[in-house]
Amino acid sequence: MKAIFYSTRNYERASLTSEAERHGHEPLFVETRLTLETAKLAEGYEAASIFANDDGSSKVLRALQKAGVRLLALRSAGFNHVDLREAERLNLTVLRVPAYSPHAVAEHTVGLMLTLNRKYHRAYQRVREQNFSLEGLMGFDMKGKTAGVIGTGRIGEVVCRILKGFDCKIIAFDINQNPQCVKLGVEYAALDDLFRLSDIITFHCPLTPKTHYMLNERTLSLTKRGVMIINTSRGGVIESKALIASLKSGHIGSVGLDVYEEEADLFFQDLSGTALLDDTFVRLMTFPNVLITAHQGFLTCEAVAAIAQVTIENLTAFQAGAVREENQVSTELLV
Ligand code: NAD
Repeated sequence: MKAIFYSTRNYERASLTSEAERHGHEPLFVETRLTLETAKLAEGYEAASIFANDDGSSKVLRALQKAGVRLLALRSAGFNHVDLREAERLNLTVLRVPAYSPHAVAEHTVGLMLTLNRKYHRAYQRVREQNFSLEGLMGFDMKGKTAGVIGTGRIGEVVCRILKGFDCKIIAFDINQNPQCVKLGVEYAALDDLFRLSDIITFHCPLTPKTHYMLNERTLSLTKRGVMIINTSRGGVIESKALIASLKSGHIGSVGLDVYEEEADLFFQDLSGTALLDDTFVRLMTFPNVLITAHQGFLTCEAVAAIAQVTIENLTAFQAGAVREENQVSTELLV
């Protein structure tokens, strides 16, 4: 099958190429994001594969369908960037990689927690400048702290398991309880109670209309002074302006972000020679207690290989008319 792969980078091309060869597909890799302008590149391709920051809005989907695309193969688990209602109207099949390595994202999440807590990012810079002072590097024991996990699906569950190893008390909020988490001793709580009781709050739910701006001025006002906020899910679950106001007031202790609500124009590219135009993002970067990574939670060899394998399997299954139900994305998932 002829398939165009948008937003591809060197780190994934080798695995995508070898999987595509094995399955007899004809891939075209382009670095550019899928937008209304670049949708025309899909002319003559039956499938288009996209990543987390490509534009899957209705206009773009219509342009893809006009170009001849019948399958949208997401190289991500998240599907908030795709207008699923429009895809259904256009009879465009949407497939994803529901679980490639929850460990990759969960381990990155805990890495952000430890770095912010023990201030490795600041210590690294200091020691390189022969500044061996410990002033300002005080952390806290993870043991005994209350971690609030929002979304206890595949990634949230692994985060709970790791934090159990630190002897944290874990409370969680999810629309569906995960029996494995209950077995671990995780206690489910009402969302406002989670905000009130947690020393660390970490987001692992999808971005949906219900989770959009879940952390906002009101919910931030419920949190403990000195709270640590971690987000490796999707940027839109946090209202960045409210986060900045709370950081400026000194209420929040620290923030670790792997995602940002307006990341599409920033992340996955080298902008080091340009002036950043997003003033909210630039303000966030100025706080010493904010650590931002550019959506790299998924970036392990194991996860990238699994994404390539399942994406190419999805092309083959679509061609054979035998798509796996768990890989199919439909409006039914819009809870
Ligand atoms: P999952 O589907 O296994 O788990 C998501 C959980 O969120 C489920 O238990 C679901 O019931 C819960 N949920 C849904 N709506 C909710 C709501 N309104 N309130 C509370 N909980 C709700 O997904 P996953 O594999 O654990 O991934 C979680 C999210 O992580 C993805 O949606 C994606 O956005 C993000 N992600 C980020 C990266 C990265 O590189 N940073 C990589 C993969 C996934």
